[in-house]
Order: sequence, then structure tokens, then C-alpha cells
Amino acid sequence: MPLLLTTIPCLKDNYAFLLHDPASGETALVDAPEAAPILSVLRERGWTLSQILLTHHHSDHVAGAEEIAAATGARILGGASDAHRLPPLQTQLNDGDQVRVGSETAEVISVPGHTIGHIGYHFPVSKYVFTGDSLMAGGCGRLFEGTPKLMWGTLSKLAALPPDTLVCSGHEYTASNLLFAAAVDLNNEALVERIEATSTAVQKGTPTVPSLLSLELATNPFLRAGNPAIADQIGMTGATAAAVFAELRKRKDHF
Ligand code: ZN
Ligand code: FE
Repeated sequence: MPLLLTTIPCLKDNYAFLLHDPASGETALVDAPEAAPILSVLRERGWTLSQILLTHHHSDHVAGAEEIAAATGARILGGASDAHRLPPLQTQLNDGDQVRVGSETAEVISVPGHTIGHIGYHFPVSKYVFTGDSLMAGGCGRLFEGTPKLMWGTLSKLAALPPDTLVCSGHEYTASNLLFAAAVDLNNEALVERIEATSTAVQKGTPTVPSLLSLELATNPFLRAGNPAIADQIGMTGATAAAVFAELRKRKDHF
């Protein structure tokens, strides 16, 4: 049985996620932008939190972790290479490590680019991947620490997951990401449809995260850097996907 997924809006435009296993009663949190909204959902549901899984060290993903851990007794897990700049970790994780939530085992995936020590969590049975600020809905994170080549490797790895995987990313940036997408992927019917659906969701105040990987593959220009139509549209016909990605990421920074 898949883990129950709850998306919790935090701060201005961040998301945290709760995973709950009805069979064992176990609950885990992915990222902790702030404590109050997360503790309030836990109270409402009557769930006891046992683990906090962190994606990367930026404060909008970790600032609430210690308060939540103190209030619930949950253990904090995060990337080993970032242990020095994350809240105190009970478990340090590396690429390929496994994390257990209830009956399900997740795989830790190294997803550098936005930051170097960034990790993600893939739950193959529930079909969730928690990507933080690496792969995002309609876009990808800014390259604060990594090179375009590093982020392209990360996105290629995530793109190879089963297409019916839900991408649980860290921010509600979808509408502005898709504006950029439309500027570099002119004749993409799936993108036009996604822009319409996103503007409807935004008007209703409905989160557009998580999103299906299949939708990202069809509409996210950063995953589509290998598509000749995009290379043509930005004047890079024949260039490698990695080179097109680097140019797209640069243009997005100034968009
Ligand atoms: Zn970040
Ligand atoms: Fe962030």
C-alpha cells in the first residue's frame, strides 16, 4: 500500500511533505521550512512524527527542523557531506543509502547542482521522488554551487525514474517557470495545456506541486534540453543536450 502523502504549504512559497504509513502508523517529514504549520497538521491528524528527511542546507528547507524534532522526538536525517551546515543529524546519508518509512524503503539519490550536497529521496513503491530545489515543477533550481554539467547529470538521473512518479519539489514557482518554458518551447501543445491548468490552480489557490514526472518530461524545458525543437528555437541547432541545458539555465537567470 502506498504511503499517504500530505503537502504542507510553508513560508511564502515553500512546501514540506508528510509521509504516513497507515499500517505501522509511522510518519516522516521531508524538509522543515518552519515548525508551526507542520506541527499543526501532525496534531490535527493525531500522527507521531519519527523522522525528518532533509534535502539541502538552505534555511527555507531546514529552519524548523530542530523545533519540530524537539516537539516530537523525531530523528533528523540529511546528507553526510552537508552535515556541517545542516541541523545536528542523527543519521548521515550518502548516495545509494536506504531510508525506511513504515513498510517502504526509499533510496537516497545525490542530486547536486543547486547546492553540492543536495540529496533526494525516491520511494519506488509509492512512486514519489522528493527533489527539493533540484528538479522543480516546470523548472529546476538555480545553480548556487554546482556547474550546469552537474545539474544536467542530476536531471538526467531523475528523468530516468518511472514516468508515473510524483515529483515532490520544494516551491510553488510553477507559473513563473512555465512563462520561461513558453519562451523557449513555442510549439509544445502539452505546455500550453499545462500553463492553462496552472493558471486555474493558482487562481483557486491550489498547489501545483507535486507534479507527475511524465508531465515534467513533456513540458519542463530543462528536462527537454535534448529536444531538437528547443535547440533550434534558441539558435543552438545540433548542440549537445548538456550545452542546451547550460544555455537555458543561463537565460532563465536573466528572464
Ligand atoms: Zn534551496
Ligand atoms: Fe528553496
